[in-house]
Amino acid sequence: MSNQIDFKSQAESLREQLVAWRRDFHAHPEIGFQEHRSAGIIAEQLRELGYQVQTGVAHTGVVGLLEGKQPGTVVMARFDMDALPIAEENETDYVSQNPGVMHGCGHDGHMAIGLGVAALMAQRRDEIAGTLKLVFQPGEEGMNGAEVMMREGVLEKPRPDVVLVTHVWNDAPVGTIDATPGAVMAAAERWHCAIRGKGGHGAQPQRTVDPIVVAAQVVVALQTIVSRNVGPLETAVVTVGQIRGGDAFNVIPSQVQMEGTIRTYDPQVRETVLRRVREVIEGVAAACGAEAELKITPLTPAVVNDAEAVKVVRAAARAVVGPENVFSGKQTMGSEDAAFFLREVPGCYFFLGSANAERGLDAPHHNPRFDFDEGALPLGLAVMMNALGHYLL
Ligand SMILES: [Zn+2]
Ligand SMILES: [Zn+2]
Repeated sequence: MSNQIDFKSQAESLREQLVAWRRDFHAHPEIGFQEHRSAGIIAEQLRELGYQVQTGVAHTGVVGLLEGKQPGTVVMARFDMDALPIAEENETDYVSQNPGVMHGCGHDGHMAIGLGVAALMAQRRDEIAGTLKLVFQPGEEGMNGAEVMMREGVLEKPRPDVVLVTHVWNDAPVGTIDATPGAVMAAAERWHCAIRGKGGHGAQPQRTVDPIVVAAQVVVALQTIVSRNVGPLETAVVTVGQIRGGDAFNVIPSQVQMEGTIRTYDPQVRETVLRRVREVIEGVAAACGAEAELKITPLTPAVVNDAEAVKVVRAAARAVVGPENVFSGKQTMGSEDAAFFLREVPGCYFFLGSANAERGLDAPHHNPRFDFDEGALPLGLAVMMNALGHYLL
């Protein structure tokens, strides 16, 4: 390990290039699994820098390998590439040129940081002991691109020993980093339920089994899962996001459709919540003489950080932003498909503070006015380089 390298000033000297990459990606956003332009630019850069490049992994994913002269740790760093179906409302000269599509989550910045890592590591090729695996991932936004890449073998040949992931984060000011051991983002499931009763005349409820009344009771009963079945110091969310039923004011429909999401951190809490959602929905429906058909679809597991990898990232971050700006404890109920990688390989998912309220760069992620302080780019690059350097140099 080499602590002497001043990656902070090297990253800072790449600042203009990082901003240029980021703004170019920002102006040309692409929806998940359609990141052809972005992937093309990335693959070309990696090839020029001497990486072994694999393209078309999970449709548009790009993997770049840099093998050192000596054997050693295989470190993977993941950068997501996809934009969102949002019409951008910013007025910048790098505003989206693709109507209805926007880099509203900062993945443009992740690609820029990834290219910065590729450039700085290529300069040190002769010093590397081990292998750097750069993974540019498609389809993070609700599409589980990470899982698709895994099915196509991204965690093999070579298998990484550790994985690092960063995300720009507008909930925190630029110049701060948060790396927290344990679960930092939630396991997410989607549930769908059909409640079947017996339709009829709105004036003759006694001849029906009213699924709207059942659905109303289901909504209320579901609220008791978090309040009565989950411990007060544990974390869970049960949300009903959609109820659809009925066509006329004087008709009792025969069916109501409900949909929602479940978020948890702890696997045992998750088991409990999933079991209780089923018991509550089926039980309430049965008590009312109706039938419920419930389908729970797992989306992503929880993002769980490895304590050792977190230590490495925290040390890397202290050298860049100072110990007073390195935090711990950030947890969100959002979900992220890097969880699939982190379930297989120990690693760290860290939050890169990117907001600047004074400059108006603090809109939330997925907002049509989302933008971030580009000062986060060299900082994120420097932290990544320090952490990768710990394993490889
Ligand atoms: Zn997002
Ligand atoms: Zn994101």
